[in-house]
Amino acid sequence: MPKSLIISPHADDETLGCGGYMAANPGCHVVLMAKHSNDRVEEFIESSKVLKFTYTLLDLPDGYMYMMPIPDVAQKIKRISEQDDYRNAFVCYPSIHQDHQFTHNVSLIGLRRFPGDVLEYEYPEGSSYYTRMIPTSYFAMNDEIMNTKIEAMRRYKSQICDNRDEQSLVGLASIRGLENLSSYAEAYRLIKGRLYS
Ligand SMILES: [Zn+2]
Repeated sequence: MPKSLIISPHADDETLGCGGYMAANPGCHVVLMAKHSNDRVEEFIESSKVLKFTYTLLDLPDGYMYMMPIPDVAQKIKRISEQDDYRNAFVCYPSIHQDHQFTHNVSLIGLRRFPGDVLEYEYPEGSSYYTRMIPTSYFAMNDEIMNTKIEAMRRYKSQICDNRDEQSLVGLASIRGLENLSSYAEAYRLIKGRLYS
């Protein structure tokens, strides 16, 4: 079965945004952009075991990714996207964080010729700006998938805070589920699509 590629600025964004989708589709591949402490990378690896994803670490400077040459990083993402027959790619919503904006922009450049769908994912946000993504697509989650996502997020002990705790995950998933007429859902925005035959 064709796999999915997920580009994550920091260790936890992939789980916050696509944890449910990954729980239901084992074998996704995550590109982790930022270089983190060993402890946080360990949490990322623990989360990868829960959600059964493989990964590539790009080791870009955390908080300062924008200082890296865009063509070089875009080329790396392009090469990774060509290493497997990915059916779709997920890119973080830009939001109000310089690493998220950089990851969003450089990913779209790297995936310019990507043959599959490209979608944005969202995450619970503590920003006072209005930055919520307008979804085009939903991934409905049953209790089991929702619990697996929560289980994966619990692995990020260093990252749990007001807007990244279990209540936030369930809250956002409930709002998106309400919009999608399901118990829980993850929301996505299709940026580039193709018709499957
Ligand atoms: Zn992040």
